[in-house]
Amino acid sequence: MIDISLLALAYFFMEFVAWSNHNYVMHGFLWKWHKDHHRKDNLQGLPKKTEDQRFEKNDLFFLVYAIPAIVLLIVGFSMHYLPMVFIGIGITLYGFTYFAIHDIIIHHRIKISFLNKKHNYFIQAIIRAHTAHHKPKNKKDFNNYGLLIFSPRYFKS
Ligand SMILES: [Zn+2]
Ligand SMILES: [Zn+2]
Repeated sequence: MIDISLLALAYFFMEFVAWSNHNYVMHGFLWKWHKDHHRKDNLQGLPKKTEDQRFEKNDLFFLVYAIPAIVLLIVGFSMHYLPMVFIGIGITLYGFTYFAIHDIIIHHRIKISFLNKKHNYFIQAIIRAHTAHHKPKNKKDFNNYGLLIFSPRYFKS
């Protein structure tokens, strides 16, 4: 049986993990990995680098998330323990969502035409919320550490 609820739970739990990691780790003790993702933002204390780099140190965080998902999938499949498989799929789907929205739609790191077309109401709000983190007008803007969950004020353009 496909346990959709477990999969959805893992998916949305990852939004919480991403938010807390971005808040406490990436803008905390692993700022050295995240810093180059903010290199174009004119944030205080950042050297201005203008050259385009294909990869960012920040991409290391993808591995940090991919490894537990892969381990869950391999162990879950080999032990025929489906809950592990569904949690692994939930984490993986969240990773794909994050990459599609954050790296392709928002930051245009890869050009994929159907993802760069006109965006719906919700995606537009996500873009505004994340852009506020990069180009904050105040502390509240900067504190947008999540991706899919954010203040309703970003629904207003
Ligand atoms: Zn950040
Ligand atoms: Zn970003």
